[in-house]
Amino acid sequence: MNRLAQLDLAHIWHPFTQMRDWLQSEPIMIAEGKGAVLQDIRGNKYLDANSSIWTNLHGHNHPKINAAIRRQLEKIAHSSALGLANEPASLLAEKLVEAANLSGRRREEADCSKTQSSASSPRRLQKAFFSDDGSTALEVALKLAYEFTRRARGQSAGRAPSRAAPPKFLSLEGAYHGDTVGAVALGHIDLFHQRYSGLLFKTDQVMAPYCYRCPFNRAKPERADAREYRRCNWECVNKVEQKFSAQKKKGNPYAAFVFEPLIQGVAGMVPQPSGWLRQATDIAKAHGALLIADEVMTGFGRTGSSEFRLQAAELPAPPPKGGTPNRLFACHHERVQPDFLCLAKGLTGGYLPMAATLTTQKIFDAFLGRYEEFKTFFHGHSYTANQLGAAAALASLEILQSPESTRSRLALEKALREELQTLWALPNVGDIRQVGLIAGIELVKNWQTREPFTVRERAGIRVCEAMARCGVLTRPVGNVIVLMPPYCSTRAQIRRMVAALGDGVRTAFR
Ligand code: PMP
Repeated sequence: MNRLAQLDLAHIWHPFTQMRDWLQSEPIMIAEGKGAVLQDIRGNKYLDANSSIWTNLHGHNHPKINAAIRRQLEKIAHSSALGLANEPASLLAEKLVEAANLSGRRREEADCSKTQSSASSPRRLQKAFFSDDGSTALEVALKLAYEFTRRARGQSAGRAPSRAAPPKFLSLEGAYHGDTVGAVALGHIDLFHQRYSGLLFKTDQVMAPYCYRCPFNRAKPERADAREYRRCNWECVNKVEQKFSAQKKKGNPYAAFVFEPLIQGVAGMVPQPSGWLRQATDIAKAHGALLIADEVMTGFGRTGSSEFRLQAAELPAPPPKGGTPNRLFACHHERVQPDFLCLAKGLTGGYLPMAATLTTQKIFDAFLGRYEEFKTFFHGHSYTANQLGAAAALASLEILQSPESTRSRLALEKALREELQTLWALPNVGDIRQVGLIAGIELVKNWQTREPFTVRERAGIRVCEAMARCGVLTRPVGNVIVLMPPYCSTRAQIRRMVAALGDGVRTAFR
């Protein structure tokens, strides 16, 4: 065995990995990457079919991002944001704020406050708090929302904030928002979260729309995305309303509603039917809750254009005509303007760990005061607003916002949609779910009964192992195989990814 592989086996503890299994074989040791291709130390090439766990946008070794990092490196790699400002982080904050806000008419619709001028709109995202990764982006939003609500409620009740009941949070069934303790408290995947319950504060969960496995969906299985032919009465939306009303009756309305917009990732690539996001967030806002949008996975163009989204007559207002065809953030597809927008993964194009929590002037102002009032947000990390990360992020955003990138993402989304159709022929493929350049293929024992594979059968893992043998790398979420290609992938590479998945399914369930 190669010496580097030996060192890995001797000393590295890998994340989300049963290390007993890991120690059985020589790991693939990545040495290089170019575009959508990874190469190991032996020279074997693989397609990076999940964009290195959903982080990479424009491919590996991108000349523009490389150059931006090199330029920055010649100046300085890092100086602290505690007490100091820096150039690339300031430029990046401006660009993020610009990109994250709905423009003009769409923002007014989202605000429901047409009297506000757009520049002073209370929901406008105006401030960026930088941190390191998706989990910390969520921690920041969580603590800011908690403290903002605690103070606001204390003030309106005319008592010290410490005397008010602690603000409560609502998130979705199957939610995953990261692995730090606060983010884990927001999560509702028993396998990951239950065992730490003694460490966690309690949050509530509400039904998430999962059309394929929804008990209220009366439609019989068909060979199409379950969202397309679902038959229901939007019970999932009613559940959200019920949850907020019940909590209000208890005298402690939810402080914030936390959600992944359009599609939940780790929950199993579970997309929301068109219109759910707008309806659910309207309910939350009507009950006075802050909106925390976790776009760690969905941000930066991942959810693609609206062109291919399923049409729903139930949408509260028709989608705007002539809007940007390829929206950078999932919330924008349904004209939702959150109070917190959590970004990480793709922020630096998948180059460096960096995250941002964007929020409004209103939240920011609540933390202003005389020094001795201690209204300061007592939170921060050593590498906050790191210059190398910010330089990479600026370069990545520039590529992302170029017309060529927008065009090629649209073409790729279409290509992925077409290629995925070939998988319906497989009896072990239950559902194929695609939102933009995110696809989840749910494996079942039999598509007609939708019977799931048991954990012991390791269905997802077996298929991914077979795909790796065909030179295509990805990781499953349970029984769902994820395809999330880098935006630079070619049509031929997309075809290879999907073909390997098909072959993997055939091999695993022969
Ligand atoms: N939120 C979502 C939606 C995620 O998918 C993830 C990671 N998969 C996180 C938060 C946590 O991000 P990180 O692993 O960078 O801490």
